[in-house]
Amino acid sequence: MQTTKLTKNQIVTLDIIDLSYEGLGVAKVDGYPLFVENALPQEQVEAIITKVGRNFGFAKTKKILQDSPDRVTDYDPKYIQTGIAPLIHWRYERQLAFKRQQVVNNFEKQHLDIEVHPTVGAEHPLAYRNKAQIPVRTVKGQATTGFFRSRSHDLVPLEDYLIQDPKIDAEINRIRDLLRQLQIQGYDENRNRGDVRHIMVRRATATGEMMVVLVITSTKMKHLPQLLAAIQANSEVTSLYLNVNAKKTNVILGSKFELVAGQEYITDEILGKQFRISPQSFFQVNHEQTQKLYQLAIDAAELTGQETVVDAYSGIGTIGLSMADHAQEVIGVEVVKQAVQDAQVNAAINGIDNAQFVVGKTEDVLAKWAQEQRQIDVLVVDPPRKGLDASLISSIQALRPQKIVYISCNPATLARDLNLLRADYQALHTTPVDMFPMTKHVESVTSLELIH
Ligand code: SAH
Repeated sequence: MQTTKLTKNQIVTLDIIDLSYEGLGVAKVDGYPLFVENALPQEQVEAIITKVGRNFGFAKTKKILQDSPDRVTDYDPKYIQTGIAPLIHWRYERQLAFKRQQVVNNFEKQHLDIEVHPTVGAEHPLAYRNKAQIPVRTVKGQATTGFFRSRSHDLVPLEDYLIQDPKIDAEINRIRDLLRQLQIQGYDENRNRGDVRHIMVRRATATGEMMVVLVITSTKMKHLPQLLAAIQANSEVTSLYLNVNAKKTNVILGSKFELVAGQEYITDEILGKQFRISPQSFFQVNHEQTQKLYQLAIDAAELTGQETVVDAYSGIGTIGLSMADHAQEVIGVEVVKQAVQDAQVNAAINGIDNAQFVVGKTEDVLAKWAQEQRQIDVLVVDPPRKGLDASLISSIQALRPQKIVYISCNPATLARDLNLLRADYQALHTTPVDMFPMTKHVESVTSLELIH
């Protein structure tokens, strides 16, 4: 345990020695760690202490006394304040090295000796996101769109969201203007009042098809028909949904989606295949980097055409269907029913007849298969941040697939799981892929091989 004499609001001079996985500068005062906003490794800053905790504290940079040679200066601080782009002040090459280092650090903690390749960077580290969920609030009497200041619900008005597809920004701004013209109110979360809570927009990078989901508190709201008609007037909107969420909650979406106009889905293209995407289904947000990530996964699987491939956490089937041409058969497993339906349609529209998809939790489905002693040759896993369920590890040990391709969005749970698998599987190498430039998120692909 660390103790400190530091107090809140005290001004201190700090040498920054590292960057935390959250993107905060790390400094130590007599061994006591401080996490410092807007401070980079190699910098010396004058900072004000904002919080003193038992084991560590927080501070905010007031003045940079010595700049990092890797600091970028021409950015708008709003993108750090809102958490949209917490690494924007760091040269992109340094971000890539930082993300590789996150993987290395987590492997070291588990005493794993695995080769980690350089992070695969993006050619377009801005304007990449194909999906936005933007809050609508009333500010100074007008419906306003933007992003919340970090750890708060104060809306920072924005027109340029920096890392989003600019066509999505334009559509958000257009809908905001329509709300103003029709004098429709944004949501007031304290009183659970107002009409429009969020605007969700998805745009398929390859086809330009655009889906708008308007999240409202009630279909009885004033001027709704006029608003919907005006949204449809943009011919780029190929799919328009309403989602009613009347609850006092931070959860963005209500459970039901009602199609108002256009198609039920948008279609995007990845590695030459078409994918239909429903509003509830997960879809990777960065088109350029997703193709690189999937290609690495395909390469890691080293398919010959004879294999049974399981695509676990399959979403709308993108990874499995990208591998189907090179495999005997593909079986996808996914917990969201709508996503499984999308995956089945996606197999059909691409003329793929050796792929099937089942609804269920990966850990449950594979436990059953382990009991039935099914033959699996290659297992692809792409779990959410919490990683693999402990029971899934034992099912894998029973099923003994020859190869595992582990796609991870959290190096800490990746390292934990690789450690649990180490008696049976040798991890050959890991390649981080920068799916979320300017943010702290670290995605990677690891190939594993069964040890006989
Ligand atoms: N591989 C897909 C989806 C990855 S996101 C792609 O690249 O697009 C993770 C997916 O896992 C989501 O679709 C989520 O709904 C699903 N999921 C989460 N927990 C799950 C579980 N326990 N079993 C199966 N699927 C799960």
